[in-house]
Amino acid sequence: SKAKLFDQNTEVKTSFKDVAGLEGAKEEVQEIVDFLKNPEKYTSLGGKIPKGALLVGPPGTGKTLLAKAVAGEAKVPFFSLSGSDFVEMFVGVGASRVRDLFKQAKEKSPAIIFIDEIDAIGRARGKNAMSGSNDERENTLNQLLTEMDGFGTNTNVIVLAATNRADILDKALMRAGRFDRQIFVDLPDIRERKEIFEVHLRPLKKAEGLDLDFLSKQTPGFSGADIANVCNEAALIAARQGKKAVDKQDFLDAVDRIVGGLEKKNKIIT
Ligand code: ATP
Repeated sequence: SKAKLFDQNTEVKTSFKDVAGLEGAKEEVQEIVDFLKNPEKYTSLGGKIPKGALLVGPPGTGKTLLAKAVAGEAKVPFFSLSGSDFVEMFVGVGASRVRDLFKQAKEKSPAIIFIDEIDAIGRARGKNAMSGSNDERENTLNQLLTEMDGFGTNTNVIVLAATNRADILDKALMRAGRFDRQIFVDLPDIRERKEIFEVHLRPLKKAEGLDLDFLSKQTPGFSGADIANVCNEAALIAARQGKKAVDKQDFLDAVDRIVGGLEKKNKIIT
């Protein structure tokens, strides 16, 4: 049996409607959508379409979601892989997997390639020499750089990569013609949390008068992923008690539960 090389989704349903908040980031990626839809508009004036952009921000803030929405909005296929899969699963074949990925994306172009956790392959070279698989990682990274340098400006494949550690990335990745744009995807403020609640409450049967401002106030420091979790957990808590709708107390219990989980996580780290 063969491990899955990368995910390929030719009919992405995700759109900007699914991404709450992140107005600045959405504005920046809107440009990428335009490039993919109308490349001639830009190249006819002699401009070079960017090949890559880095989505930078804490875990769970919607980087993957945003990248998928770019593909969905531009109606182009979405090829994705995770940097950590490369290091853990594909020992010895990282470089050839990267080559295959770019080959397939080019065949289906215009297309988006998304590399999650790019820091797993894109860490500055020479650091962390104890990890053993370093040569492997460097080969994979070098192949990625080669591929990005190799495709011409009319290839119409744009590579988006996500990281929460832009500071440890090899500077070679950020050079002109590679990931030369950084788009910041931050934790949501209170107003954005309300919008995220709105998105994730859509499928729920809500009790009447549920106060979204209150819920947003109760969740400082929560990421979009945490809020999605709260909504789902609240629905499960309500169901367990045989309720007909999810009410305020279910949300408070869910928030407690998620906070408990977050505290545990932080304890392990520090
Ligand atoms: P990681 O760095 O951990 O991979 P990420 O930034 O890529 O995280 P996503 O995987 O995009 O985060 O987010 C996980 C889930 O959290 C999404 O599928 C979505 O359900 C929810 N979510 C996160 N951010 C948002 C947002 N801004 N709007 C709506 N939902 C969000």
